[in-house]
Amino acid sequence: MAFLDLSQLNKSFGPNHVVKDFDLSIAQGEFVSLLGPSGCGKTTVLRMVAGFETPSSGAIRIDGQDMTHLRPNQRNIGMVFQAYALFPNLTVAQNVAFGLKVAGVARAETQTRVDEMLALIGLPDLGGRYPYQLSGGQQQRVALARALAVRPKVLLLDEPLSALDAKIRASLRREIRAIQQRLGITTIFVTHDQEEALSMSDRVVVMNGGRADQIGTPFEIYNTPATRFVAGFVGTLNTFQAVVTDPATGTVTLGDTPIALHRPVDAAAGTTVTLAMRPETATLGIGEPGDVVLRARISDVQFLGAIIRVTADLGGDSLTLDTFNRASTPPPDVGAPVTISMPPAGLVVL
Ligand code: ADP
Ligand code: MG
Repeated sequence: MAFLDLSQLNKSFGPNHVVKDFDLSIAQGEFVSLLGPSGCGKTTVLRMVAGFETPSSGAIRIDGQDMTHLRPNQRNIGMVFQAYALFPNLTVAQNVAFGLKVAGVARAETQTRVDEMLALIGLPDLGGRYPYQLSGGQQQRVALARALAVRPKVLLLDEPLSALDAKIRASLRREIRAIQQRLGITTIFVTHDQEEALSMSDRVVVMNGGRADQIGTPFEIYNTPATRFVAGFVGTLNTFQAVVTDPATGTVTLGDTPIALHRPVDAAAGTTVTLAMRPETATLGIGEPGDVVLRARISDVQFLGAIIRVTADLGGDSLTLDTFNRASTPPPDVGAPVTISMPPAGLVVL
């Protein structure tokens, strides 16, 4: 039974239909990211869950209760935004206590919870400071503590890391995930950053033009993208055309090279299909038994230090491959013939 259930949510602003037939079921304690480019409707979904926007149609249920038409303060939801929304004239402790005060929680209990929250975010001694005396990362941790202090049923995070610099972003990712897991709080995290979504989430929803294109674990989203949009938005992608020869066994040909996918292909014999492949799934030279083997010619080599990025011409399409620099073998020469091996599982038919 889903803890948080969004069913057939739609939202229009005037003629602008920005969230379309959006379904999502989240289990208790799950961390789910909404991932997609700017303007695809992520914030609008989050604001509907929070109660700041009313859906044009559809329903929102949390813990068995229909929340669709409740006011934000009746939903027991905590929210953190991209921009630090701390009250500048209140101390850190007063900021964290804010929701408790509004809810009429007794003074002693408030004090206990504020101390708990400041310990949870690793800032036990900064209760007396004002927001301007904190770094951006510290301010976002306080915003998180303020959202969690009221013990919400659901935590909503709208690009909370986007305004921070890269190093702090990476450490806060781990910290937010650790806090979320410690509390077991059901969380929706909005981001346009694929690495953030993949590294933090139990499941990812890839959104495209107001719709959920795919919902799956990070592993599924990355390795078996359901649509061309998902494949291109999450990670770097190679595509090449091949002709289906036997749909039942999943045999296709590239030029005159047969490729055995070892799983049925949903297209008739003789059809041209697009195969997609990640740069890191292929190796130069002979790979493992069972690998698909292609012959190509090197057209470009980029030495990136840890990685050598090789572009190879298949006689029409070209593939980009990332190989680890193992120090023992120098980068191949442009123009050299090359054998490329990849596991059939690394090839996705789009
Ligand atoms: P995201 O968070 O994915 O960047 P948003 O949900 O903020 O996307 O916006 C989706 C679309 O809805 C955008 O085209 C945006 O301009 C539009 N939009 C969002 N809020 C409003 C509003 N209050 N009034 C009119 N249009 C809006
Ligand atoms: Mg947004």
